[in-house]
Amino acid sequence: MKILVLNCGSSSVKYQLIDIDKNYALAKGLVSRIGMSDAVLTHKPHDRPEVKISGEIIDHIVAIEYVISMLLSPNHGVIKDKSEITAVGHRVVHGGEKFPESVLINPEVMAELRNCIELAPLHNPHNIRGINACQKILPNIPQVAVFDTAFHQQMPKYAYIYGLPYILYKKYGIRRYGFHGTSHFYVSKRASELMKKPLKELKIITCHLGNGASMAAVDGGISVDTSMGFTPLEGLLMGTRCGDLDPAVILHIMAREELSLQEANTLLNKHSGMQGISGHSSDMRDIIQEAKEGHANSKLALDMYCYRIKKYIGAYAAAMGGLDVLVFTAGVGENSPLIRAKCCEGLEFLGIDIDEDRNEEAVGMEALISKDKTRVKVLAIPTNEELVIAQETQKVIDVDKFLKEMSKGV
Ligand code: ADP
Repeated sequence: MKILVLNCGSSSVKYQLIDIDKNYALAKGLVSRIGMSDAVLTHKPHDRPEVKISGEIIDHIVAIEYVISMLLSPNHGVIKDKSEITAVGHRVVHGGEKFPESVLINPEVMAELRNCIELAPLHNPHNIRGINACQKILPNIPQVAVFDTAFHQQMPKYAYIYGLPYILYKKYGIRRYGFHGTSHFYVSKRASELMKKPLKELKIITCHLGNGASMAAVDGGISVDTSMGFTPLEGLLMGTRCGDLDPAVILHIMAREELSLQEANTLLNKHSGMQGISGHSSDMRDIIQEAKEGHANSKLALDMYCYRIKKYIGAYAAAMGGLDVLVFTAGVGENSPLIRAKCCEGLEFLGIDIDEDRNEEAVGMEALISKDKTRVKVLAIPTNEELVIAQETQKVIDVDKFLKEMSKGV
């Protein structure tokens, strides 16, 4: 069974065609700069070199048409006919409380997804655009929505309600939702497999450190707390997002700088974090390099980044009443021994003790990076959100098929 996984952003479409029986991507790629005359499609079949084409791509429909034609192309393709695609799995950032799990897309679901736009105005409209485009291009193929928020939907209420008038939760759904759910789920499941222990018996902290970054406390396979909140702005310091902040600061800056809501939003989401503090870059590789060269603010940004992660490790160990496994994943977590070591510095009292050589060697691979006989196992695990989306999609269409057969039998 082949499942097309799509992640649609404002001007980009990331895709993978996954062979779900063999658990690997037959092809993957990215369309960027959609809406511009110099859009780029990068396509990589699993067994051939990467190809790049450039030209005008006016919208998501044209972008997905190009993706399908690449998948079918005699030279670069991996399938002979569209009908080989069994289903499409869409990453949808915000499912609110309405969607605690993945769903088959139908007109009612689309209406509910539109209702969720208010919760994630920066992300959901593009996800919906991708679904609409796919329905036009692949009209007879089932489409499934897989939500970033779903894995965190079992958090206890005391972890997700904010200290605001409760009526605001009732009126507007203001609460912690959490994001990166497919990644936190994937790496915690992988950790239990690597540890050869059931997920039910493990207390795990997962650190997803990419451009966006979040942590989760996963107790017995359930996300009991996570650092992102109502939006993906809360929690850790990120590439361009500020993370945790005294809310009064926003009001103060808006008044002093006479900022509009839109300008304040841009300040917090695009000009803060590592970018805002270093004044140079949001890219962790640049920050590390500049810190090494003695740039004071890049060093400060690095210290702040790791200090905040360390604080969350302590908080989540306390929230779960213990800790068995600490996992690092995503761009920074998978590739930076320096950051991993810095986040774990001084945590020996919790049973966290990194082995220097193991940590240095573990770049872009699954590895145990803690010393032998330490109480907490520290792991580096490359994430695979697309595989989770494909597996979820398969699960949803299997259940749908089963229900249809049952109803025929009755
Ligand atoms: P996204 O959230 O866009 O999916 P990624 O998971 O790809 O992001 O992570 C991107 C981040 O990972 C960037 O800040 C990049 O600098 C960082 N990164 C990638 N490789 C390394 C490395 N070797 N050392 C430190 N940071 C790295």
